[in-house]
Parts: sequence; C-alpha cells; structure tokens
Amino acid sequence: MHVPAAGTVNPSAAPASEHLFARAGRVIPGGVNSPVRAFRAVGGVPRFMVSGKGAYLTDADGRRYVDLVCSWGPMILGHAHPDVVDALHRAAAGGTSFGTPTPGEVELAETLVDRVAPLAQVRLVNSGTEATMSAIRLARGFTGRPKIVKFAGCYHGHVDSLLAAAGSGIATLGLPDTPGVTGAATADTIVLPYNDLALVEAAFSEHGDAIAAVITEAVAANMGVVPPLPGFNAGLRRLCDQYGALFIFDEVMTGFRVSRAGWWGLEGATEGWAPDLFTFGKVMGGGLPAAAFGGRAEVMARLAPAGPVYQAGTLSGNPLAVAAGLATLRSCTDEVYATVDARAADVAGIISTALTEAGVAHLPASAGNLFSFFFTDAAAVIDYAGAAAQHTARYAAFFHSMLDAGIYLPPSAFEAWFVSAAHDDEAVNRLADAAPAAARAAAAVADPPVAAGASEAGAP
Ligand SMILES: *Cc1c(COP(=O)(O)O)cnc(C)c1O
Repeated sequence: MHVPAAGTVNPSAAPASEHLFARAGRVIPGGVNSPVRAFRAVGGVPRFMVSGKGAYLTDADGRRYVDLVCSWGPMILGHAHPDVVDALHRAAAGGTSFGTPTPGEVELAETLVDRVAPLAQVRLVNSGTEATMSAIRLARGFTGRPKIVKFAGCYHGHVDSLLAAAGSGIATLGLPDTPGVTGAATADTIVLPYNDLALVEAAFSEHGDAIAAVITEAVAANMGVVPPLPGFNAGLRRLCDQYGALFIFDEVMTGFRVSRAGWWGLEGATEGWAPDLFTFGKVMGGGLPAAAFGGRAEVMARLAPAGPVYQAGTLSGNPLAVAAGLATLRSCTDEVYATVDARAADVAGIISTALTEAGVAHLPASAGNLFSFFFTDAAAVIDYAGAAAQHTARYAAFFHSMLDAGIYLPPSAFEAWFVSAAHDDEAVNRLADAAPAAARAAAAVADPPVAAGASEAGAP
C-alpha cells in the first residue's frame, strides 16, 4: 500500500486510489463492479477502501472516513463487528461450501420466519436481484398470469423485466432504460408513478385478469427516500386482493434495518395487513452475499422441488454467508435498533441545520431510520418526477467537501444514507464539524437553469 508522506509534492487527495482506478479501468468496465461506485454522479476519483472498523473506512492512501454508506445498508452493526468476524472464522475453518443442505441455513430461515410473522417459508438466494427475480417468477407461476406492476423510481435489482424506470443507478446515469433489455422482457411490466393509488386501480380495471403481482419497495429508497403516503401500501394490498394478484413487498433495503421485522413491522403489523411475498437482502447477509424471498405457505409450496416453479443456486445458503447473517441478526437487538434510529435522526438534523444555515434549499426525507436530502425547494417529494427535479450539482459540491473532510457520503444525490450502531459521538461530532463548510460549498453553486435537474436524472 502506498501511503504518501506529509509534505508530498503530489497535490492529489488520493494518489493511491487514482493509481488503482487507472489499473481497474484497464481490466474492469468503468473501473468498478457496480456503476454508482465510479463517482460519475459527483465527479472525481472513487476511493478504494482497504479496511473498515466500526463507523470508519480506511482508503488505499491511509485516509480515514466516517462511513455514511455502510455498504448500502448491510453493515448495521458497523464494520468488522467481533461477533460477525468470529462467526466467519469458525465457518471458514469448517469448509466454505458443500452443495448440500446445512444446519445453518435452517437456523437462518427460522430466524427470518420468527421475526416477520407473515413469513411461513423462505428460500435463500445470493443477492437481492435474485430474490426479486425469483419472487416474480413464482408470482407468475402461481397465478398463471403474465403482467407485473412496478413503480417508477423503485429499484428491485437488475432484473430485466424490472429495469424500467428503476431509480438511482439509472437515475444517476441519466438512462431512461438500458440497452440489452428487449421490449419482450418489459412488455409485461406496467410502470406507474409511486404513491398514486388511483392509477393502480385504473391499471387493474384495464388489465386485472392479466396482472400476476404488484411489486413495490416497502419504502421507496433508491431515488432518495420517498416514504409511502399513508394508506398507499395498504391500498395496494386491497387492490391485489380484489383482483386476485399477489402483493410483493421488496424489503431488501428495509428488512431487518428499520426494525426487527423491517418496514412491515412498522406498518403492516400495526395496520393489520400482510404481503403475499417478501424479498430480503443486505442486512440479512451481514456483509456477505445472502438474500431471500418468502411468504405464505400456499405460494411457497409451488417452488421446486415441492412444486413446479423452478429456482436454484450453486452457492445458495452458503455457510459463510449464513454465518455472517445469523451473527448479525442475533446482535440486532431492540437496543441496536434504538441506537440506529437515534443516530439517523442526529445525522439528519445536523445536515439539515447546516444546509439551512448556509441558505441551501433542501427537503429532508426519512422513513424509520432511512433518510436522505432532496436538494430542491419543493415542499414535498412523493414520486420519481419530484425526486428527479433536484439540484445535483449542489449535492456534488457538498459531497466533495465532506469527502475532503473525511466523511464518506453516498456518491449520488439519489441514494439513501446509512448509519450503524457503531456510529458513536466521535463519529457524529466529526460529521457535525465538517457539515457547515460543505453546506457553504453547496450554497456557492449557482442556481441551475430551469428543469436541468430533471433532464439530468432522466424521466422514466
Ligand atoms: C439493493 C436492492 C436490491 C438489489 O439487491 P442486490 O443484492 O444489489 O442485487 C433490490 N431491491 C431493493 C429495494 C434494494 O435496495
């Protein structure tokens, strides 16, 4: 590892990352293995991280950052939590993959079913993408119907049929759609604006007997955080019942992060409704590739080998991923959720105050402990059109000032921010010290020409 000496003549903030990025660009498209990591939405050189501990990341130049990304959600306990590291050591020493059933995967399935009451059965997979892809196949197989309703700005992984108006990665890159997905793949996808039940009702009255499922993020959080309006999710449940379609609740981001039982635990459990199928990922893998889909018994019974709908995976239920997930969920106590909720509120308050004091128009958005900020003077954002109409150049200036001060924020204005239970006073104080200068940097960016934000994000 190259660590620059103090007083080095190299003016770059991140010479080792620059060097790695150049090497990466030769052998990896765009130099990254997932697009938002490339910093294209904010400019500059992505930081190559070499280690993480608690609330902090350390980059290849030896610089330390307070991490507000937390691997996009999984690291709810902070990086390298001792229980998770121990569990991984023990699992690795016992062999990394057998291609057979294992006791650990039973225990993880039992843990998920125990936490989320409507879950009768789950199937483990390796990514959130696989979870939603499989849930959709199962819904189509169960109902014998072809069409899926999704909402603009909701991201469900890079499943072909769901890559229509799909939120952050695509919003960030300004692509309304992606080459490589055929018209046939999305022909049975109906895309509607988020939070508009009347249009869902209209779609059902036109295509009711062809709609297999409605899929929604439990809280839309891949276009920035856009909470469901009161009654929206319950209304989707009601319409699905009325027309015999399945309701798929994508909790890949919210699951086991916003509460013991995810967003359903905060909303459906108190309102008295349940989806037919859930999808999970992120937190439940504890930083390793584990995800799941599951739901009521009658639907899950249609999955192979119990039923005819095929689904499989060489590494599904992998012993290391299961061990990390179990250790993480065991440590996700009520206290951890209370801490994460409090820290999220602290950080959101600090950032909003700094922006307000610098005169930067913004709208704080939150749902449980998920939060983000829309750089807009709109009074509310309830859908993708609203989320897209923001001043992304102001966010970029804010981001880079924070990065220079050792605070690692999501490298796009269209992403949620994440804290962990390891974000202590020291980490929050560092963020509070850095925020005023970053807010002034954002304030110094000139007002955009009318509607520039919207065209940059790309309309669905
Ligand atoms: C992250 C995410 C996915 C995709 O998960 P991957 O593990 O990246 O494939 C799906 N749905 C939602 C809501 C997500 O936030």
